[in-house]
Amino acid sequence: MTTTEDLIAAAEAHSAHNYHPLPVVVASAEGAWLTDVEGRRYLDMLAGYSALNFGHGNRRLIEAAEKQLRRVTLTSRAFHHDRFAEFCARLARLCGKEMVLPMNTGAEAVETAVKTARKWGYQVKGVPDGRARIVVAADNFHGRTTTIVSFSTDPEARADYGPFTPGFDIVPYGDLEALRAAVTEDTVAVLLEPIQGEAGVLVPPPGYLRGVRELTRERGVLFVADEIQSGLGRTGRTFACDHEGVVPDVYVLGKALGGGVVPVSAVVADADVLGVFKPGEHGSTFGGNPLACAVALEVVALLETGEFQQRAAELGDHLHGELALLTESGRVTEVRGRGLWAGVDIDPAYGSGRDVSERLMERGVLVKDTHGATIRIAPPLVISKDDLDWGLDQLRAVLA
Ligand SMILES: *Cc1c(COP(=O)(O)O)cnc(C)c1O
Repeated sequence: MTTTEDLIAAAEAHSAHNYHPLPVVVASAEGAWLTDVEGRRYLDMLAGYSALNFGHGNRRLIEAAEKQLRRVTLTSRAFHHDRFAEFCARLARLCGKEMVLPMNTGAEAVETAVKTARKWGYQVKGVPDGRARIVVAADNFHGRTTTIVSFSTDPEARADYGPFTPGFDIVPYGDLEALRAAVTEDTVAVLLEPIQGEAGVLVPPPGYLRGVRELTRERGVLFVADEIQSGLGRTGRTFACDHEGVVPDVYVLGKALGGGVVPVSAVVADADVLGVFKPGEHGSTFGGNPLACAVALEVVALLETGEFQQRAAELGDHLHGELALLTESGRVTEVRGRGLWAGVDIDPAYGSGRDVSERLMERGVLVKDTHGATIRIAPPLVISKDDLDWGLDQLRAVLA
């Protein structure tokens, strides 16, 4: 039972079909490369939706994890442990904020941000009890919990999951006037992805994030930036908000924060925001555990050097230059993105996003399609320029 077909059949027989993976069965990985159970190698141009910004098996992250595995892995927050304070302090400093609330998955961090904004709204802003509202953008992706899908506009993400959580107002992404009109006395937060990842790597119009910042400041509303996918180096800066010189009130982080080793997420803000929580009011058994803190602290240390951000910026310029040439050839209708992150819309004449992904797989490159005609390119930031060029050669060949 080690052939690809057998393993896929067994997975289909014994797991819920909530994904439609490409027919590759990965056995090991290093850097930007994966090896399947039959020894074939693939260039990873998805990087776990940016959870693997620092590459597979990053030496420093694996060493940090191994060292911590032998010391202590879990205490629960019932006790202090010796990796917690440094992780929180260093992550807060990276964000230019005062406090961190660690969780595990991205969705939990978004839930935590929603709770933070509501509690802040009642306790600090003085919104009457039960009236708090949060403005979000259409085509958002913030995770899969019942509250989060309550404010999704994706029918697939919502169907048959009601009743839904009230208290959210949805406006078109990138439309500052719509946002302005949606903010009322009861609005406690605006929650946005600074670049919409799942929607197809949608970059908002220039000035939008700055406009959101000014509007939320004027109206006494928290600006909550979901940087789970866009943050931690992917776009060529530490945060996608940095491209407009914008500092939100609340960062929501996940994915790459766990270094591709363990799930680590966090809400990061100043004490006047995160200070609303008192003991017992929110928590997580695994949030901020010693193993998670040890790995995430090493992630923060990698980002403190700035070298990954710079690499993403340089290789990203190269990537977008090459993709622009493909657009000129007419096979690609649009390319969006920033840094080592691109949404590439394929002319349907050359196949669907899924078709292109499967043909790339046959040529040893793994990507993921989204919304039918789009493929998303987001290799680990450690990818070499030669490997990136080779991956782009395969894309050109598939679209030839
Ligand atoms: C992936 C993602 C999430 C959800 O993270 P999970 O760890 O899958 O729960 C939330 N927001 C954004 C922007 C994401 O990309």
